[in-house]
Amino acid sequence: MIQEFEKIKTFYDNLPERIRRIKKNLNRPLTLSEKLLYSHLFDESRLVSFNRGLDYVDFTPDRVAMQDATAQMALLQFMVTGKESVSVPASVHCDHLITARSGADEDLKSAIKANSEVYDFLSSACNKYDIDFWEPGSGIIHQIILENYAFPGGMMIGADSHTPNAGGLGMIAVGVGGADAVDVMTGMSWELKFPGIIGIKLTGKLNGWASAKDVILKISGMLTVKGGTDHIIEYFGDGAESLSCTGKATVCNMGAETGATCSVFGFDNSMAEYLAATGRKKVADLAKKYSEYLTADKAVCSDPGKYYDKYFEIDLSELEPHINGPFTPDRATPVSLMKEEAEKNGWPVDVKTALIGSCTNSSYEDISRAASVVRDALSEKLVARSEFKITPGSEKIRAVAERDGFMDLFSKIGGEVFANACGPCIGQWTRKGSDNKEVNTIIHSFNRNFAKRADGNPNTHAFIASPEIVTAIAISGKLTFNPITDKLINSEGREVRIPEPEGLSLPPKGFGITEGCRKPEPNRKKQEIIIATDSERLQLLEPFKEWEGSDLYNLPLLIKVKGKCTTDHISMAGFWLKYRGHLENISENYMIGAINYFNDQSNSILNQLTGEYDPVPQVARAYRNSGSGSVVAGEENFGEGSSREHAAMEPRFLGVRAVIVKSFARIHETNLKKQGVLTVTFADNNDFYKIKERDRIDILGLNKFSPGSQLIVRLNHDDGTIEEFPVTHSYNETQIKWFKAGSALNIIRNANKLT
Ligand code: SF4
Repeated sequence: MIQEFEKIKTFYDNLPERIRRIKKNLNRPLTLSEKLLYSHLFDESRLVSFNRGLDYVDFTPDRVAMQDATAQMALLQFMVTGKESVSVPASVHCDHLITARSGADEDLKSAIKANSEVYDFLSSACNKYDIDFWEPGSGIIHQIILENYAFPGGMMIGADSHTPNAGGLGMIAVGVGGADAVDVMTGMSWELKFPGIIGIKLTGKLNGWASAKDVILKISGMLTVKGGTDHIIEYFGDGAESLSCTGKATVCNMGAETGATCSVFGFDNSMAEYLAATGRKKVADLAKKYSEYLTADKAVCSDPGKYYDKYFEIDLSELEPHINGPFTPDRATPVSLMKEEAEKNGWPVDVKTALIGSCTNSSYEDISRAASVVRDALSEKLVARSEFKITPGSEKIRAVAERDGFMDLFSKIGGEVFANACGPCIGQWTRKGSDNKEVNTIIHSFNRNFAKRADGNPNTHAFIASPEIVTAIAISGKLTFNPITDKLINSEGREVRIPEPEGLSLPPKGFGITEGCRKPEPNRKKQEIIIATDSERLQLLEPFKEWEGSDLYNLPLLIKVKGKCTTDHISMAGFWLKYRGHLENISENYMIGAINYFNDQSNSILNQLTGEYDPVPQVARAYRNSGSGSVVAGEENFGEGSSREHAAMEPRFLGVRAVIVKSFARIHETNLKKQGVLTVTFADNNDFYKIKERDRIDILGLNKFSPGSQLIVRLNHDDGTIEEFPVTHSYNETQIKWFKAGSALNIIRNANKLT
């Protein structure tokens, strides 16, 4: 922490001069997002006014975070580089692999047993490469980051989509794929399309049942699940300052549901108080000293329409609690309208289970307000009519909630505490009866509610609300219960009302000591990486071979894909995710969802060596093992979807040398380039139709491969005829080096061999 504090101090000390230079070059007032983005440029000499939503810019984040599912392949790739330590502070969090079934203690024991080989690998790799390792049970990645690492003005990437949670502490924090995490850990730049900026001015003050969660539930409804795409949402105004730091984190966390790159609040007193309460007063003092650089310029706040790409105002005093869902987080209904909406849409109103907690809503404020609802309900002789579950975001918050009597209150109404992990939020909830696919309703304070996300049952109608509303609904048992106006009948037959919740943003007796982090040991370099040779889930990676220095000849066509080909078609999720640390095993899903142009079938392609139709991975392996490699052809926007790095590693592993398409989804194209697969596009899209099923393909011109050059594809048809056509590419000088070295990581590996 001392070492990290020194880094943070250096960042702050340099900030005034950086901002001065940025202002001089841009010659206008700056939003907070611009201050933070421009002060993290990888190449400070490239300080020009970037076009928002258009220019791709290289940044240098301060920190990397990974959860246990995404960290596996990221660390395996990091090992390939031969580096001894990560280039920026990083942490790994064991939270996603814990199944919620029988309560915290049992579930944690089961998870440690079931995932021991993954945890052993992660902890050994973290120790060796100087990464903080957070044990299973310590908490959920985003809560831990907020409690320990986030700092105002910083920039972080995290291999998880709710990384923006740290925006509650004034950080630009973006969810990325594992490939980006590897780049930054190895000292490479991190590329991002310079985002547009949505300004949201919050005025007034929350009151009654309304909470920070309702701010983002309302905004999700306004922006929809796409409205924030390629934008940062920046909050300001007296209303923003009135929210607690953890409330701000909730808003930023669920901002991911609008598709936003991230969300951010300017530094204020609530952040200073939270930093001090979590043992980081020195950081708080520095942030106070430099606060003018950690907020938007006054000129921006007084004329926001001029400086933001989109601009809204929300009066918190008028904000009504919302319930969002079912099946999508942007279907926002104020509680007062839920009766009408539920009836109109035929939603089941009996709530089977109500769940609070998760990385989104586990703050002291959340738990204390939910507990106050329970306390008042108990004193009014009410009982919970729905099942009630609690998923604390971290051990720190669980322990404090227990110490301050909240857990005791929850258990009095039958609440069950799950492990400090993702559990029901990510389908890791073994819910009794969910296999029966019964139509039912649940309500939770998490962030996503797509079909099957919580319990795997497509007929579970999941709704999202604040912890206090979820708790009130658990007591009423009805989705349509509006605690502001409605009364309940208690166990004595009396009509009673639940009073407005009360809570505190920080624990009066302070937080306890953080537990569960294994810091790297002083002799860490001697650490052996633990991977069992017969492991099905983990496998060491071999560096990919460098380019042979000549044109490519006689490559059989592997598959010509018809129509849409997303990263899901290329590397399916679901069942296969358990192999995400084992490239050979997960490669058995390569392209199994893609449609073969020649027979309209998935996972059935011609093996030119045998004349048989076989699954894609099997044929690719046969070509690779015969020494020839292969070529893939595709149509428009090839590789759209998630930024999953496996979709680029698998073809490389299976010997695919080139992918020729009408157009690429940009991230997938870059990922393929990084892995050393040649990516080219048809100069004339009609040439796609010239490729025949039994073609052998040559790729010519590689000795003159340079930015802007064209290459030639020669098709050797099996009837002896030959056709040639030009293909274009988007490689720059650096990316051509990746291709020649066999992968981007090989460049770093080679450099490390030389030093
Ligand atoms: S609690 Fe849910 S949203 Fe948060 S990190 Fe875990 S799975 Fe993701």
